[in-house]
Amino acid sequence: MFQASVLASGSKGNSILIRTESTKILMDAGLSGRKTIDFIRSIKLDENKLDAVVISHEHSDHIRGAGIICRKFKIPLYISKPTYEVCKERLCTIPAGEKYFSDRSTFTIGNIEIKAFQSSHDVVDGNNFTLKKIGDDTRKLSIATDLGFSSKLMIMQLKKSTSIILESNHDIKMLLEGSYPPHLKQRIKSKQGHLSNEQAVGVISQVVHPGLKNIILAHLSEENNLPKIAEKLMRDYLKSINHDLQLIVASQYRSTKLIDV
Ligand SMILES: [Zn+2]
Ligand SMILES: [Zn+2]
Repeated sequence: MFQASVLASGSKGNSILIRTESTKILMDAGLSGRKTIDFIRSIKLDENKLDAVVISHEHSDHIRGAGIICRKFKIPLYISKPTYEVCKERLCTIPAGEKYFSDRSTFTIGNIEIKAFQSSHDVVDGNNFTLKKIGDDTRKLSIATDLGFSSKLMIMQLKKSTSIILESNHDIKMLLEGSYPPHLKQRIKSKQGHLSNEQAVGVISQVVHPGLKNIILAHLSEENNLPKIAEKLMRDYLKSINHDLQLIVASQYRSTKLIDV
C-alpha cells in the first residue's frame, strides 16, 4: 500500500497525508490542529498513528498547525534548518524534536523515502519533494506547489512519477483582471510566486509518460481561479495527447479520496 490524500489545499491551509502499511506522515500542516484531525477522520483514518510532519516552507498556510500536531501526537518535525530558524517562534516547542533535512538530500521516515529539492518561491528555503516506498521502485509520488516557475531541476525530479500533486494556482486572465493590488499580482506571477494553470500544463507536458496515472491539481486560488477552468485546461491537454489518467482537483474544504500512488 502506498497512498496519498490532499487533505486540503489553497491559501487558507495545505496538508497532504501519505501512508503505507506501516507509516503515516503529513506533508505540511497548514490548517489548525482541529481541522487537520477532522480532515484525517473524513477519509476514515486514525489520526493517532501519525509518524511525522514534513514542512516545505515557512508560509503560514503550510505550518499553521505543525507545532500543535507534533505536540499532540509526540511526533518529530522534519524541516530544513533555514526554514526552522525563521519560523521557530510560530512552531513553539516540538518535544519529539526537529529533524533537519537539506536541499537535495534524501531522508527516510518509516518505510517512506523522501527527496527534497529546491522550489523557486519567496521564502528562505522552499522545498518540493518526491516520495517512494522503500523497496518499491515501481511507484513515485511528486509534490510540487508554491513555485514560480518550473526549473530544469524540478522537471528532472518529476520525471517517471506515477502520481503528481501539482500547483495550478491561477488563471492568468483572472489574476490580471482581478481585484488584487498590483504588487500582489506581480508577486504571484513572478518567478518566486505561484504556477498558473498554463504553467502546470507546461510542466506535465515535459514529464508525462505512459506510467503517469494520477494528477492532483493543488493550491488553487479562490480569487484568481476556478476548479473547472484549471481542470478543463489540463483535461484538454491530456486528451490532445491521448493520455488517460485520473485527474483530481484538490479543494480547500474537503479532502480528496486516498489515491494509490
Ligand atoms: Zn502555499
Ligand atoms: Zn508559499
